Amino acid sequence: MSLRAAVLLLSTFALSVVLAACSHDAAPPAAAPQPERKAAVQATADHDEHSYAEPQKVRITALALDLGVDFAQKQLAGTATYTLDWKDPKATTLALDTRDLAIAKVEGADASGQWTPLQYALAPRDAILGSRLDIQAPRRNASVRVTYRTSPDASGLQWLEPSMTEGKRQPFMFSQSEAIHARSWVPLQDTPGVRFAYTAHVAAPKDAMVLMSASNDAADANGNAPRTGDYRFTMKEPIPSYLLAIAAGDLVFQPTGRRSGVWAEPAMVGKAAKEFEDTEKMIEVAESLYGPYRWGRYDLLVLPPSFPFGGMENPRMTFATPTVIVGDKSLVSLVAHELAHSWSGNLVTNASWKNIWLNEGFTTYVQGRITEALYGAELADMERQIDQQELAKEIADGEIAPADQVLALPALTGRDPDEALSDIAYTKGAWFLRFLEQRVGREVFDPFLRGWFDDHAFQSATTAEFVDYLKSHLLAKHPNAVSDAELDAWLHQPGIPAFAERARSRGFATVDSARIAWLGNGQLPPPAITSAWTTQEWVHFLEGLDETSKPAQLAQLDAAYHFSGTPNGELAQRWYPLAVRAGYHAGDAQMAEFLQRVGRRKLIMPTYEALVKTPEGLAFAKDVFAKAKPGYHPITTASVAAAIAKAEKPAQPAAAKSL
Ligand SMILES: [Zn+2]
Repeated sequence: MSLRAAVLLLSTFALSVVLAACSHDAAPPAAAPQPERKAAVQATADHDEHSYAEPQKVRITALALDLGVDFAQKQLAGTATYTLDWKDPKATTLALDTRDLAIAKVEGADASGQWTPLQYALAPRDAILGSRLDIQAPRRNASVRVTYRTSPDASGLQWLEPSMTEGKRQPFMFSQSEAIHARSWVPLQDTPGVRFAYTAHVAAPKDAMVLMSASNDAADANGNAPRTGDYRFTMKEPIPSYLLAIAAGDLVFQPTGRRSGVWAEPAMVGKAAKEFEDTEKMIEVAESLYGPYRWGRYDLLVLPPSFPFGGMENPRMTFATPTVIVGDKSLVSLVAHELAHSWSGNLVTNASWKNIWLNEGFTTYVQGRITEALYGAELADMERQIDQQELAKEIADGEIAPADQVLALPALTGRDPDEALSDIAYTKGAWFLRFLEQRVGREVFDPFLRGWFDDHAFQSATTAEFVDYLKSHLLAKHPNAVSDAELDAWLHQPGIPAFAERARSRGFATVDSARIAWLGNGQLPPPAITSAWTTQEWVHFLEGLDETSKPAQLAQLDAAYHFSGTPNGELAQRWYPLAVRAGYHAGDAQMAEFLQRVGRRKLIMPTYEALVKTPEGLAFAKDVFAKAKPGYHPITTASVAAAIAKAEKPAQPAAAKSL
């Protein structure tokens, strides 16, 4: 899903220069031109302005899917059957969210179980919200069934040709439902304020393994499941719609612990299982802090390199980019992040998208605690410092509008929730919780946070509800810990409060000294020092180089450390833009290969942005993009196309004049 679109709107892509503390580092799909009309949904205090659903009248409590996967047509087709709880005695209409779905028929079951047709109306498509589906159920049926099929352009599904996979043998398909894309593959009350249990029957080609954010009914005790082409799934815990997930492809399983494992393409599964071998330990650390893991298994699905995001916390089955598999576990905080969502987000869910810091800020905080417990405070400090410096830079560079720099966003009416999401939710949100922790001490804060998760388990929450809970369960008992003015600064004021303590990694001080010494005397730090550096230390080393590096300096670095062609995307993301800006071309071929192989937006956009700033760079970018495009996700394609179009814009008036 979707970090950094706010930036996209404001100053395009400069912000993608961001490490992956947060996992869903992507931009939204560009909506196809459609007849637009004004969004009819208005914000109220705790209403979700991104859904047409009226859960105060009737709620979906259970969903049963029966779908076929058609790779040739790039479509899912079948039925969605809802169990309904009618709340309002006068209500007879079920309003659902849809986007680009072809609805074939709608039926309701009567008391005898007999299905009869129901009247329905599909409203014109809103560019952000999709189409409201109104189903007339005058007998207030307990069950309603919709027969439908998806569009090949469904915003929540990507269909990959075999050439876009690691193995290049079979096609691949995966979903990304957060924030409001579930409605593009299932008609739903598509709001995080409604939860439902679900079952699914999925028919697929025999050689395609299908996975969902649910347990496979045929799985063995290790978590493996047979590839039969006919799959049944059960999610018995109630989940919000954005956690509905499906994937299909040439996938095999390897266990990593008693309740954890990895699904990946055959060529990748061994490497992935090794990289993620600490998953069970991560679960245990999180449980020791915040109580039992409530979802049964925790498996990871490693997607093909075109996955445009870092990860997505689909329950029981995190979807993850392969770009964090670098061989030394240095980027596994992505797993800590997605796992942390099993408490913050999946268990206690933001009631609507304006409250998303309740998901992402809490998760980034918990991620840091897991990282610290397993890998030490130094690594956690490094990741926090990288995050904080990046957010500070985004704010200083004007990439996030002041109104979007507050945690307690009043409304997102008329905006795509993907576009409104920024590092504020992740980094400022986590920073606020860290501040609270420091003020009251961990022995007080840890039980408080666990209490928040326990008291709101399987519920949705708003920022106002959290603030009330904070006051009654923490601050009332520690009245001198935090002032009202400090609370207001975190929740309602833009920017980072001046009194917030900045993360300071001791290891980074060594890196800074080494860089300064090299810039002064040309002496690079000896291998005895750098051989122990982690990805984070190299990131910090590169981020400290300014934009005036000379080609000869980069040649010296490249000869010593082999940045060009690095398999580590976090380093590539920072090295290639430096090379482009310096006019250092020795690694151009490796840079082109990287941009074509990887589709994760965060990793490749900084290089495209650097390239398009000069005419020859722009030509290079267009050439690479033409070759890479068939393998990119539509989200990545839209971002690169926009960067190129923006760079070409200044030329247009001149061209017009010459006419
Ligand atoms: Zn997250």
